[in-house]
Amino acid sequence: MEVLKNYINGSWVSSKETGTIAVVNPANQEVLAKVPYGDKTLLDVEGAVSAASAAFKVWRATPVMKRVQPLYKLKQLLEDKLDEIARLITLECGKSFIESKAEIQRAIENVETACATPVLIQSEFSEDIASGIDEFMIRQPVGVSACISPFNFPGMIPFWFLPYAIACGNSFILKPSEKVPLTMMKAFELIDQLDIPEGLINLVHGGKSCVDALLDHPEVKAISFVGSTNVARYIYQRGAANGKRVQAQGGAKNPVIVMPDADIEMAAKIVADSVYGCAGQRCLAASNIITVADQKGIITEALVEAAKSKTTGFGLDEDIEMGPVITPESKRRVETLIARGVSEGANLLLDGRNAKISGYELGNFVKPTILENVALDGEVVNTEIFGPVMSLLHMQTIDEAIDFVNSNSYGNMACLFTSSGLNARTFRNKANAGNIGVNIGVAAPMAQFPFSGWNSSFFGDLHAQGRHAIEFYTQTKVVIERWPKEWSRKF
Ligand code: NAD
Repeated sequence: MEVLKNYINGSWVSSKETGTIAVVNPANQEVLAKVPYGDKTLLDVEGAVSAASAAFKVWRATPVMKRVQPLYKLKQLLEDKLDEIARLITLECGKSFIESKAEIQRAIENVETACATPVLIQSEFSEDIASGIDEFMIRQPVGVSACISPFNFPGMIPFWFLPYAIACGNSFILKPSEKVPLTMMKAFELIDQLDIPEGLINLVHGGKSCVDALLDHPEVKAISFVGSTNVARYIYQRGAANGKRVQAQGGAKNPVIVMPDADIEMAAKIVADSVYGCAGQRCLAASNIITVADQKGIITEALVEAAKSKTTGFGLDEDIEMGPVITPESKRRVETLIARGVSEGANLLLDGRNAKISGYELGNFVKPTILENVALDGEVVNTEIFGPVMSLLHMQTIDEAIDFVNSNSYGNMACLFTSSGLNARTFRNKANAGNIGVNIGVAAPMAQFPFSGWNSSFFGDLHAQGRHAIEFYTQTKVVIERWPKEWSRKF
């Protein structure tokens, strides 16, 4: 069985770690590869940082127009290999092939947006801020940057950072999730074809000790993290204590309000897509669904029908809308939380536990589940389930629903379905979350906009994507200049 290599200084090299863990297809437990995992992966970080430091010295002096040229080629290569990469995402991560393709499309859009860096990096100039004195600000790269990514979007999330980091003149080290490293192995085969300095973009495999080595290394200046909230908080604290700039995106528990004036059929379909898409393993998955004044249970009925219609199975098979969750432990955790919801008093309108998919009996499948009237002071209503479970709540007014939305400790996304402009305006003004959807189920910002998590969904100041990425990957320098006439040489 292949042990995955690191990509350091422009070459594929074996890890110094001999311990490995298996990369497993969650639909059938087939072992796809082995990935280095253990305390010695920190030695690999040393090699990657030293290569990235050397490359940075050359790259920071390369004009920005030249720095974006490899991105045009990367876009083309990603488009050419889109199906191949998407297939790998489905194999190691479990989501449907269509979802995997859409994920790579989002990655490509970030590469395209980073191609605008020559404009986005332009800065400010004020002539004569005092008599004969000019002042201006320039943006310079920060140095070696590193990204630690989660399992649920193995193809997209590294590209929330990588293209911007290098377009801004930094070098880059990626530590992908040990659960899904194959997608980035393929992406790095494409990166290997780019005309860039050796060591500019590196990949190291590993887990906590590898991450800690990146957090502690004095030459790593910027850390981008995406993952669960507890780890995000830890990354932010340890990175910041070591003097680095850190952006750490965490977990979520996303509420969606459905008003009685919404197009109920359409809303139910979109909400079900949000709850069950990627088997609920999106940081923007809708989780707590609040119906408002659902007098005759019309909204509830439409949601149950939409949930029932979802097809579950192996993501590469035809017409499959929902794949497995990532590991057997995840499946157990999700099923335990469903049982907890029931013990806290919820009605189980749809029970997706003990799912059996013919031909994939070993897969980590949980089918669509709906818990109605979950306890407001219980565990389920406040816990990121990260599985295909809808918690359904009924309230009487939009104000009550918004108060509930704002009582949550997370703030990744909040959505409203309505046909009233006034409701929409009130909601977007008051909802305590950084990504807002109005008649949208997954309010995922496009590459031009920041991925704006709030509260315990985000630690830091500048988010991923767009202008925030340019600001994160550059440091400002302000220059005040005077050229007095009497000091100028006469010719
Ligand atoms: P995770 O936190 O377990 O792992 C993320 C990364 O951190 C991995 O590369 C892992 O190797 C590393 N890691 C894990 N434990 C660590 C530790 N103790 N110290 C240092 N590094 C550690 O997250 P996951 O299970 O891979 O991903 C799912 C989570 O990510 C969910 O909570 C989801 O909401 C969140 N997520 C958030 C966003 C967002 O934009 N806010 C996007 C995608 C996923």
